[in-house]
Amino acid sequence: MENRKAEIIEDRKEFVCYNSKNNENKLKCDQNSVSGAVSQRACVYCGARVVLNPITDAFHLIHGPIGCAAYTWDLRGSLSSGSELFRNSFSTDLSETDVIFGGERKLKDSLDEIVEKFHPKVIFVYATCIVGVIGDDIDAVCKMAEKKYSIRVIPVKSPGFSGNKSMGYRAACDAIIKLIGEKKSKKKVNGINYLGDFNLAGEVWVVENYLKRIGIDIVSKLTGDGKYDEIIKAPEAKLNIVQCAGSMGYLAKKMESLYDIPFIKTSFVGLEDTENSLLQIANIMGNEETIQKAEDFIRQEEEKIQPELDYYRRRLTGKKAAIYVGGGYKAISLIKQFRDLGIETIMVGTQTGKPEDYDIIEKITNEGTVILDDANPYELEKFMVEKGADILVGGVKERPLAYKLGVAFCDHNHERKHILGGFQGAINFAKEIDLTVNSPVWNYV
Ligand code: SF4
Repeated sequence: MENRKAEIIEDRKEFVCYNSKNNENKLKCDQNSVSGAVSQRACVYCGARVVLNPITDAFHLIHGPIGCAAYTWDLRGSLSSGSELFRNSFSTDLSETDVIFGGERKLKDSLDEIVEKFHPKVIFVYATCIVGVIGDDIDAVCKMAEKKYSIRVIPVKSPGFSGNKSMGYRAACDAIIKLIGEKKSKKKVNGINYLGDFNLAGEVWVVENYLKRIGIDIVSKLTGDGKYDEIIKAPEAKLNIVQCAGSMGYLAKKMESLYDIPFIKTSFVGLEDTENSLLQIANIMGNEETIQKAEDFIRQEEEKIQPELDYYRRRLTGKKAAIYVGGGYKAISLIKQFRDLGIETIMVGTQTGKPEDYDIIEKITNEGTVILDDANPYELEKFMVEKGADILVGGVKERPLAYKLGVAFCDHNHERKHILGGFQGAINFAKEIDLTVNSPVWNYV
């Protein structure tokens, strides 16, 4: 990987490269953001909240000033099959007086009020920046509340400044382990835990249905449509499958060492990865019959959607895509999905990708593809223009960058309302890309 561009600020150059198969140098990644580089990443607390908030019947209490809670209110938009308690944004609303005299009293009073009014089984208490600065002992307050009310009150160590967004994922995973406990389960059931899907538009239910069709049950969903009673049974499962390894790979490793549950990385984004994931799960969990069921199911679903996909392939072949998403698994799946539609990926980056993700990205993209980690708006715009992108796939913060440049945009993150996973998701994705890339509006930009 070489040819860093002179316009990129000096400290960022090792995080950006053009794919070159002959170069031994590795892209720098999985580090704190470069100061002043205006990263697209959110803070540690936000990373923790996006992972934990989809636990539907939990009470999520943000210990900090009101802005932290407001800025992350229902930000995943995850769907629930039961309780809607998680959809609220509760805050201790720390003010100047609390900063001077400490916020523990206010936190204690808030917990009393929550228990009295909402009777939740579990409360997560998130520490924000100011709590890290003034040093409130949230561990002690949570412990006291647990004792007083005999419910679970779990501190989430996530002051915004205490690292990068990945540290927030880790804080969330630690909180989940604290909730479940560290004991192995004596009882084992023939089912799996599904980690790292946040059920943004109902994808967890899609995957659950696919697995049911081939005879495999889900014990616990972490965290999309997650429920307290199911989550604490997670140690009983035989296998963990991990959709978003960036946020929950750490939890999968912890669960392997604590509960002896092996894990595999899966992806239900795009046809190729959906099919491979189903076969992989069937091979590990099932017998000949399960594998046969999986193969039959895949064939039937493929037959249903291929004619429609062919239609979109004809309309999209030759287009160029830029990708900037949170984690590596999604970027990798999207590159394959674009390739299946005849679209070349000319720029790809992630907020929290790991070295192993970038190794795969390097292998499956063409020479000259721009690869970048923890990018900023300037870099994204610069390379989209340089490479002539027809579409950018990203999240809410990337949308204005694309539109400003007159480039089509596809939201593959929190704000979408339609399923982009599994077989149906492959059609929805192709349709959306076609609608936006081939929209006549771009002729007037
Ligand atoms: S935790 Fe800190 S960085 Fe994050 S939203 Fe609150 S004040 Fe901002």
